[in-house]
Amino acid sequence: MIIDIHGHYTTAPKALEQWRNRQIQGIQDPTQMPRASELRISDDEIRESIERNQLRLMRERGLDVTIFSPRASFMAHHIGDFNVSSAWASICNELCYRVSRLFPDHFIPAAMLPQSPGVDPATSIPELVRCVEQYGNVAINLNPDPSGGHWNSPPLFDRHWYPIYEKMIEYDVPAMIHVSTSCNPNFHTTGAHYLNADTTAFMQCLASNLFEDFPTLRFVIPHGGGAAPYHWGRFRGLAQEMNKPLLDEHLLKNVFFDTCVYHQPGIDLLTRVIPVDNILFASEMIGAVRGIDPETGHYYDDTKRYIESVDMDADDRRKIYETNARRVYPRLDAALKAKGR
Ligand SMILES: [Zn+2]
Repeated sequence: MIIDIHGHYTTAPKALEQWRNRQIQGIQDPTQMPRASELRISDDEIRESIERNQLRLMRERGLDVTIFSPRASFMAHHIGDFNVSSAWASICNELCYRVSRLFPDHFIPAAMLPQSPGVDPATSIPELVRCVEQYGNVAINLNPDPSGGHWNSPPLFDRHWYPIYEKMIEYDVPAMIHVSTSCNPNFHTTGAHYLNADTTAFMQCLASNLFEDFPTLRFVIPHGGGAAPYHWGRFRGLAQEMNKPLLDEHLLKNVFFDTCVYHQPGIDLLTRVIPVDNILFASEMIGAVRGIDPETGHYYDDTKRYIESVDMDADDRRKIYETNARRVYPRLDAALKAKGR
C-alpha cells in the first residue's frame, strides 16, 4: 500500500472561494458577512472535483490513500479575528470530511485549526476535538506563524502551544507543521515562506527540550524538511554547541520528514541523510508545483518516481510508503485495519 500523507483540497468547487471572499468583505462591512449555511456545494460537485484531479492522479501513479486537509494557502489565519478563522476552519474541515465519506477507500482527513494571530491556541481545541471525534481526522496541521510571515507568535517550544500538544497526545495524533499564505512580500508563499517555516520549526525543536516535556509528541516537517536535511551537519554542530544530545536521540523519535522534494537529487540526499524510519511518502498533489519537468518529461510532484529510483531495499521502501505512516498516524492505521487493510 502507498499512503500519501500530504494532500490538500486545492481543487474545491469555486463556491468555496466565493464564500471566503464574501467573508473577507464582511470583516469591513458586517452586513456582508455570509452565514455558513449560504455555502452550498453538492456531493456531485465534490465528486467531480476529486475524480478529475487528485483521484485521477492517484490512480495513474498507483497511490492508495491520501491524508487530506484543507488547502494550506487558503487557511490564511492572518485574515480577520478568531471568529472569522473559526467559521472558515469549520467549513473547510467539513468539506474534507465529506471527501473522505464520498471516497472512503482513498481519503482520510486531517484538520486545519482556527488559529488567529495573538489568540491563545487553546481556542482551537474545540475544532480539533470535533474533527477527531466526529470527522475521524487522523492528524492536524499546526501553523507556527498565524501572522502570515511576520513571526510574532512564540516559538513552538513555548508553553503558549502546550494546550494543543496535550490534546494531540490525548488523541495520539501528529501535527504537520504547515504555514499558510505569506502576507509579507519578502517571502513568496510556497517558494520561501513554506520552506523557511519548515527549517524554522526544525531549529525550534532542536534548540529546545520540547520532546523531554512531550516524549510522544510527533511533528511532521513537510516539503522534505525545508533546509534541515541539506544542512544536517550544521544542525548537528549547533546541537553539539548547545550541549544537546545527538539528533537521533534529541529529535528523531518525534520529528519526521515527508518526500515533497521535487527532483531526484533531493530525494537521494533526503534518503541518504535522514534515517529511513523518519521519512514519510508524500507528494502534496495537487499543490504548488503543477508542471512537467522538461528534463524528465514527468510531473515534478510525481514523487513516487524518485522513491522508486533510490537505491534501497524493498523493506525500506515499504517503510517510506506505508509502515512509517501507520506508526506516526495511529488513527490512520486503526481506520485501515478496521477495513481489513
Ligand atoms: Zn502542504
